Amino acid sequence: MLIHQLLWLAVCCGFATSEHRGNDTEKQSTPVTHPLLLVSFDGFRADYLKTYSFPHFQKFVSDGVRVGYLTNVFTTKTFPNHYSLVTGLYAESHGILASRMYDPQTHKTFTIGDTDPSWWEEATPIWVSVQNSGYKSAAAMWPGSDLKIKNSTATHFLPYSPKVTFQERIGNLTKWLKDDSDVRFAALYWEEPDRSGHRYGPNNTVEMAKALKEVDNNIGLLMEQLQQANLWGKINVILTSDHGMTQCSEERLIKLDNCLNRTDYSVVDLTPVAAIMPLNNVSRVYNLLNKCHPQMKVYMKENIPERLHYKYNERIQPIILVAEEGWTIVQNGSLPRLGDHGYDNSLPSMHPFLAAHGPAFRKGYHLSNFNSIDIYPLMCHLLGIQALPNNGSFVKVRCMLESETCADLAVTVGIVIGVLIVLTTLTCLFRLMKSRGPSPSRPFARLELQDDDDDDPLLD
Ligand SMILES: [Zn+2]
Repeated sequence: MLIHQLLWLAVCCGFATSEHRGNDTEKQSTPVTHPLLLVSFDGFRADYLKTYSFPHFQKFVSDGVRVGYLTNVFTTKTFPNHYSLVTGLYAESHGILASRMYDPQTHKTFTIGDTDPSWWEEATPIWVSVQNSGYKSAAAMWPGSDLKIKNSTATHFLPYSPKVTFQERIGNLTKWLKDDSDVRFAALYWEEPDRSGHRYGPNNTVEMAKALKEVDNNIGLLMEQLQQANLWGKINVILTSDHGMTQCSEERLIKLDNCLNRTDYSVVDLTPVAAIMPLNNVSRVYNLLNKCHPQMKVYMKENIPERLHYKYNERIQPIILVAEEGWTIVQNGSLPRLGDHGYDNSLPSMHPFLAAHGPAFRKGYHLSNFNSIDIYPLMCHLLGIQALPNNGSFVKVRCMLESETCADLAVTVGIVIGVLIVLTTLTCLFRLMKSRGPSPSRPFARLELQDDDDDDPLLD
């Protein structure tokens, strides 16, 4: 009976899940009522939230959603990850693979500050999709938003300048959102705590506390500005980041000059993921690099692990070097930065944070983690626009939303255990009552049994 009841419970839950998935598709086309603001604080490592004090952030998540950490994309650099957030694609699919790239087709070299939009054309950022759906977008310094990707910048945008203050950026965005009701998607980028993380290293708790206090004040400013514009509570806001940060050291340098001649190769990008173009003998260069340093992994392009999703693109060079956490690859010379990122995206120190607030989101809800590429289908859902093909999954993020019915695992286990206890108790009581009740047929049964025993020749 117990097994039957539990099976029934499981079948019901199964039906509920599949019915729910069916509804997800329908919801993609529901009309949009609330704009969406995506904010990135560059280099905000997820565990900063455990180590430092964030009063404004706490206020933000008290009636919103907090996610423990995001698994971001490899390489854990600024440009690849910002483009993944707005396309839902791994770096190999959107083509912004690092901060420095070489394209063998066009023979062009990309560095930060490059204004050639052709680098970004392998994907379509969400602001362009929003505009193609008949709405408008606004962006303050989000990487790529001031370039004509697919022939279009964001509708309203600020040309990139690190000198523009956070206050000016959020001031412009709230004005655009308030004055132009067609603006449905807005994106805001801020350079901290990345800048301080590089300069001081994340282990410098005194300097990092100062930088993070400023970041928290900016979260407070953002909430205040949205309140003044009468948007707070009416706008969906996602706060996140591109990557974390780890401590580097002069004692953890990998010097390529100790292993091979500079005339053997050219270097496109150096640390912590180096992109190497051998000039003559590929296998010779590979062999020299392969025995260069125990804290550096060396991959021929075709052998880069699938889990990194960093192989299928022409802009990835024939040999890739990946330094272990905290190690820095140089040709020679001294340590360039006390803190760095770009390492393997499975490292906790590389993981960014996420929090969300607004009418679409649950209040006081906590989710352990998901992939940063899952944010794209979430945003398309919130905006009611068709998501382009992407590597993300809406199923993994849907529980953040108020409109979604999600069974909490702990609650489900609790219910199942509760049902088990009740059913067991009822069964025991039933058996007890049955055994204690009058049973007039018992003596006759015993007599009959005795008769049978006596007659059975096999028992002799
Ligand atoms: Zn960054």
